Amino acid sequence: TVLAKLKDKSLVTDRALVGTGWVAAGSRGLTFEVTNPSTGEVLATLPDLGEEEVRLAIEAAHVAQKNWAKRTGKERAAVLRRLYDLLVSNVDDLATILTLEMGKPWPEARGEILYGASYVEWFGEEAKRVYGDTIPGHQPDKRIIVIKQPIGVVGAITPWNFPNAMLARKMAPAIAAGCSMVSKPAAQTPLSALALALLAERAGLPPGLFSVLTTTDAAMVGQEFCGNEKIRKLTFTGSTNVGKKLMRQGAEQILKLGLELGGNAPFIVFDDADLDAAVDGAMISKYRNAGQTCVCANRLYIQEGVYDAFAAKLAKRVRQMKVGDGFAEGVTTGPLIDQNALKKVQEHVTDAVAKGATVEVGGKPASQGGLFFEPTILTGATGDMRLSTEETFGPIAPLFKFSTEEHAIEMANNTEFGLASYFYSRDVSKIFRVAEALEYGMVGVNTGLISTEVAPFGGIKQSGLGREGSKYGIEDYTEMKYVCLSV
Ligand code: ADP
Repeated sequence: TVLAKLKDKSLVTDRALVGTGWVAAGSRGLTFEVTNPSTGEVLATLPDLGEEEVRLAIEAAHVAQKNWAKRTGKERAAVLRRLYDLLVSNVDDLATILTLEMGKPWPEARGEILYGASYVEWFGEEAKRVYGDTIPGHQPDKRIIVIKQPIGVVGAITPWNFPNAMLARKMAPAIAAGCSMVSKPAAQTPLSALALALLAERAGLPPGLFSVLTTTDAAMVGQEFCGNEKIRKLTFTGSTNVGKKLMRQGAEQILKLGLELGGNAPFIVFDDADLDAAVDGAMISKYRNAGQTCVCANRLYIQEGVYDAFAAKLAKRVRQMKVGDGFAEGVTTGPLIDQNALKKVQEHVTDAVAKGATVEVGGKPASQGGLFFEPTILTGATGDMRLSTEETFGPIAPLFKFSTEEHAIEMANNTEFGLASYFYSRDVSKIFRVAEALEYGMVGVNTGLISTEVAPFGGIKQSGLGREGSKYGIEDYTEMKYVCLSV
């Protein structure tokens, strides 16, 4: 049934890419199944790889990287350009694979493929612009030159919520900079990563430069990456807890880390906001991907003058949402990724209601059962509820009421996270004041959608280290070297 939907059936594989070759079975002789979260159907059975394959992939990446680093930026750019073209020309099939393994509505999956591709295009272009610097010498005979060199072999661990884009935006800058990459996608969603690797191969990426390891033993991969001196950088997108673990493990070899971790995004609506625009923004920021993005609004702070009006307008829109299979016409909300996700969402609602919140819309598993949960609005949310301090990662919008700007900022910043934040206002002075006061790596003002390849994506505090995208993004994959020349 997977194959039936695809124009190019060869984009789904049951093998993993380990170094220079595709392997059907690993040394441990184990396999695991990839299932459709919407139906439970088994989509593929993949090799469940072990330490041996991780080491092989790192070894191959180490060898391949030496030659790749010698190529010009223009040559590396050409490969990424071809990969971009292939991603775009195969967008429908790639979206289908993504929806099958992850569950998000097909139009959203299509958007993700184009979003992921935009990083490939962008970093291909940037490959030619990894500029160094010259500095006036400190003595008459001295000449000082700064060059940027590829950091080397990069390990990448990516999550299931954006199976294509989270990997594309790591792989593209690494390859552009002259690095090689050994990646481990989430075990729930490896097929999109494998499809990316197949297309990279077709685009002419030399063998060994990019591996995609399929395994259910994520901790083992983390340990291998952190313990192997050939790995010079580890880039991770996922939970803050695993990020902390990797940082501890990587300390042994002072491993350079790029971490995109959890968020707890505030979404503030001031009395002077354009309420319809704020509702549009909340719909996108909160309910996209069934609330399963690290930049999803987690806490909605609404000023008292517009609280009831905002709640009513939002409720009207949320009641029109349609839960179901990602391929069904008009579906806005797919399933959650697994039972644990469903349990957490249910617990957050139950806890909030026990502490005084009111369910305005939804609040329970959807009628079709399985992993589906109704898009939900809770009013009367307060700071003692779990959903105020923890990332819910589901389609739940808790509305908190506030009276003053100072209080809103204080509540918004009262979290160990610092990834995305949003607010709505039409007062220019307030816009600058609030944007500067929010302790977040990203601020959306009068918009609920901020992700783009041209801007630096990333967080402060416990939301992570480093930035992805933009002219800054490639720097994470380079080392600066200063050459002092006496003439
Ligand atoms: P999520 O809650 O989104 O699944 P995780 O941080 O658990 O967040 O998962 C993100 C990625 O990290 C996945 O690829 C997962 O397999 C991997 N992962 C989970 N635990 C570990 C670990 N101990 N070491 C390394 N990677 C891990």
